[in-house]
Amino acid sequence: MDFQDYKGVWVFIEEKDGVIAPVSLELLGAGRKLADKRGVELGGILIGENIKSLAATIFEYGADIAYVYDQPIFKHYRTESFMKALLDCSNKHKPEIILFGATSTGKDLASAVATDLPTGLTADTTELDVEEETGLLLASRPAFGGNIMATILCKKYRPQMATVRSKVMKALDPQPGRKGEVIEEKISLKEADIRTKVLEIVKETTKKVRIDEADIIVAGGKGLGSAEGFQLIHQLAETLGGAVGASRDVVEAGWVEHARQVGQTGVTVTPKIYFAIGISGAIQHIVGMKNSGLIIAINKDSEAPIFEASHYGIVGDAFEIVPILIEQFKKAISREEVSHVREV
Ligand SMILES: Cc1cc2nc3c(=O)[nH]c(=O)nc-3n(C[C@H](O)[C@H](O)[C@H](O)COP(=O)(O)OP(=O)(O)OC[C@H]3O[C@@H](n4cnc5c(N)ncnc54)[C@H](O)[C@@H]3O)c2cc1C
Repeated sequence: MDFQDYKGVWVFIEEKDGVIAPVSLELLGAGRKLADKRGVELGGILIGENIKSLAATIFEYGADIAYVYDQPIFKHYRTESFMKALLDCSNKHKPEIILFGATSTGKDLASAVATDLPTGLTADTTELDVEEETGLLLASRPAFGGNIMATILCKKYRPQMATVRSKVMKALDPQPGRKGEVIEEKISLKEADIRTKVLEIVKETTKKVRIDEADIIVAGGKGLGSAEGFQLIHQLAETLGGAVGASRDVVEAGWVEHARQVGQTGVTVTPKIYFAIGISGAIQHIVGMKNSGLIIAINKDSEAPIFEASHYGIVGDAFEIVPILIEQFKKAISREEVSHVREV
């Protein structure tokens, strides 16, 4: 296969009400590394209405080029219209790699585009790299129930595509004033050509638990023994003004709601501090918290795999250790040695 014409790394920039989704900025950070390794430019593709000004933001976060489709028909996300814009852009400019956030929109759009191009798509990637010489994207993700990490290659088609989970990659520090090239594109698409109509947008009124926004997470596992035992986790979280997280087994036991589950089939989190208490450290849990700033594990089994993923480990019974921590943190907080972090 001759892929000479395919050059550049792209990120689909997801936007809502004029605000770029954090995952898109994270992907610009990851995309920058891939583009530098290949010696090519990093592009961001913006589709929407009144979104041209967002090009300035993506340049600050590492993009060299912004491909902009700014038309009223793109006011709301719809698979068909966004897919047509992306196909148009990809067929015209031929990128070698396109990255999408593994959000509802990103997953929907990436699969539609991959089917139509056609090319391969690696879903829910957690690690990205590129072979300097061949330009092959090395997209890794947990496979077989998370027991192995699989690196997936797309050898026969271009562009190579992947969706990437939020909070796994790191956004670059913005460089105010960094400039790039804006390429304005347009497609002739009539409302009548699109089968989906947006009749009404209903905003969610119930406040969702968002543990991925917390600076401190106190997560508990089956080692707490029961819903009553798990109260210890709530107490430590409350003391520190942190959020309560949990392993899947705890969620399945009904001790806390699914929104608090950390891991492969739960939420990916990167708090400043992550406590893993009575959690064994299965790979499916680790993938969801391994990028936390400081990981402190408490487990009575010194051989528990969680200790391999932790910066600090305390071997012992949670029911002895956690009450001491709560007492000591309370004392420190009252002396203002530890400041409260907002509650989630
Ligand atoms: C496809 C798939 C997806 C999955 N997704 C997820 C996911 O998103 N998130 C997730 O968490 N799991 C996930 N799992 C489940 C995962 O494999 C583990 O089964 C789960 O994480 C184990 O939960 P745990 O650590 O709470 O329980 P256990 O593995 O039972 O561990 C309990 C730990 O507590 C310790 N302990 C016991 N008593 C005490 C005490 N008094 N004090 C201190 N320590 C004590 C024990 O030594 C043990 O290490 C998934 C599995 C599959 C197959």
